[in-house]
Amino acid sequence: MQKGIDCHIHTFYQRCGNETLSVPNIIRRAEAIGLRKIAITDHLNHLDRLERFRYIKSDIDDVETDIEVFFGVELNYQSCDGDFAYSEEIHEEFGFEVVIGGIHSTYTDSADPEEIRDIQHRHFMKTMQNPLLDVLVHPFWFNRDTVGSQPPEFWEEIILSIPDNMVREWAEASAKNRCAIEVNADAIFFNTTFSDKFREAYIAFLKRLSGSGALVTTGSDAHDINALGRTYYIEGILHGLGVPEDQVWKPEKVRG
Ligand SMILES: [Zn+2]
Ligand SMILES: [Zn+2]
Repeated sequence: MQKGIDCHIHTFYQRCGNETLSVPNIIRRAEAIGLRKIAITDHLNHLDRLERFRYIKSDIDDVETDIEVFFGVELNYQSCDGDFAYSEEIHEEFGFEVVIGGIHSTYTDSADPEEIRDIQHRHFMKTMQNPLLDVLVHPFWFNRDTVGSQPPEFWEEIILSIPDNMVREWAEASAKNRCAIEVNADAIFFNTTFSDKFREAYIAFLKRLSGSGALVTTGSDAHDINALGRTYYIEGILHGLGVPEDQVWKPEKVRG
């Protein structure tokens, strides 16, 4: 049975997504395509963006629906080994229900794959050890310019040559801290910047991660309304890999 979980959706409120992505539009489309649990997760890259999240929250509260809609946020490191623009106080005051985040840069001009991977590794671990985080977003996504600066084989090789001990560490950190590793539709599987071989390598990587007990989850990373539903493709991948039910994380409403 389809789970219909999408933990990563952007909106027009913070200009992360385009104008098709108002909260009511997202909820109506999600209902129409059978999604059951969705998280609205715009970027909070700087604290000056914080106040606008109140509009997202109030729109979520205003729309009547039978599906579960979570008020969320996507965090990004403000510098290499730096911090998120986030705190326990903000978490409490705004009542964010799903917090996703991770690294959005290589933070190096080096073409040494090991150096690039080590930087990713440190940030993955730091993210999953952060008690405020629910989801580590799109591991090994890089922006178009960065990907274009090297031949496709370079990125394929980065994924293919991840050492076993790293995969194990990430899997254990995710399970122990209940921080799911996101399998992202638009940043990875629907991203034409990456080669088909990269995606194949990525599936093999997911197999290693889930085989080591990692908690995973599905996110569209929609920046347009028509990207909603791409999580069904991701569900198909997880199903094909035989990821056990108890390793697929889903957000829950805190009752009481
Ligand atoms: Zn992101
Ligand atoms: Zn995103």
